[in-house]
Amino acid sequence: MNHLTAGQRALLQSELQSRQKQLDMRLAAHHGGVSRAEHAHELLEQDGDDAPQRDNARELDLALSDLETQELGAVSQALLRLQDGQYGSCVGCDADIAFDRLRAQPWALRCVACQATHETLASVPAG
Ligand SMILES: [Zn+2]
Repeated sequence: MNHLTAGQRALLQSELQSRQKQLDMRLAAHHGGVSRAEHAHELLEQDGDDAPQRDNARELDLALSDLETQELGAVSQALLRLQDGQYGSCVGCDADIAFDRLRAQPWALRCVACQATHETLASVPAG
């Protein structure tokens, strides 16, 4: 069923839960109640002298929250997989993901090999 011991799973689960809370809070702070569409709209309308600098800050902000949104998705998925006992198996090839890897990155859903393939595919521009 699973190569992880109950103790290892419990440890990773608590890591995931605290990471999930942290990301939730950070994303809430980032957005500050402003939707992404409004955010983008503001960017388009900014033409003032100090706009370039602010644009950079905002782009960085958006890029950051993109990453965090992705990570939050992975964390939630990992928690779900913990519940149904699939946690620790690669979603790509079903191999066991090493505990060391999970400790470094509890939300890892793929083994190292599948992750590399996935990232290569993801970095190819669509269209
Ligand atoms: Zn794999």
